[in-house]
Amino acid sequence: MTKFSAKAHTRTDYNYSNFHKSLLHENNSEDYALRHIYSLENTKHLLEKWGWTPDQIKAGIDHATIDIYEKIVYLHIPNFIIKRGSRLRIRGISRFISKADYVQILIDRAWAKADPYKLQPGSDWNELIAMGNTGDFYELNLTLHEITCTCHAYSGLKKAFEQDATAIKHLIANPITQGQIPDKHIFAVWKYLGAECQRHYEYQFMERRDRFLEEKQRTEWSFDEEEKEELEIEF
Ligand SMILES: [Zn+2]
Repeated sequence: MTKFSAKAHTRTDYNYSNFHKSLLHENNSEDYALRHIYSLENTKHLLEKWGWTPDQIKAGIDHATIDIYEKIVYLHIPNFIIKRGSRLRIRGISRFISKADYVQILIDRAWAKADPYKLQPGSDWNELIAMGNTGDFYELNLTLHEITCTCHAYSGLKKAFEQDATAIKHLIANPITQGQIPDKHIFAVWKYLGAECQRHYEYQFMERRDRFLEEKQRTEWSFDEEEKEELEIEF
């Protein structure tokens, strides 16, 4: 297995914060926060949101340094790079970014990818199945305050937020998620139920539960009636 670490997180000529160093593990697959929240891909989307053109992003992203502090993120892209021996001017940046911005990008990206048409009913009213592209499937478990998913992205994101107290604080304060892990399958469930935020979801969840309980009561009741009729026939 090739051990891959984003250069932006591991530049040898840069002195990263102690918090950043604490996020780096010997086993790169355990760099959950760096891989899932402060990834190059999410940084590209942030730059795009700030009006960078695709060409400007392409020219600069490989030269980015992303340093994660306890409360904030530092992003640096130089104004000049050396390409084939000559100094080339590119669009640079050197600034601190709120972790809330990275959390928002995660939410936006998961929402854009969420497809309610890939869901199927599960074995119970509070369960749904999400179909992947390669025939794999994931189980979604619905409870009043959260939805969980059995996919890798969900467990990776959950561990990422466990590594970063400030990021989880922003996730909880976010009016859309209120702490819900922003996984595309979970947002697909929201879309499926007609919810655009956690508050809508909780309302839709209770409606769904009530409908199920009513239905259950009705079938139990008609079952009792049938039984009674049968008994009357017998006697
Ligand atoms: Zn999932």
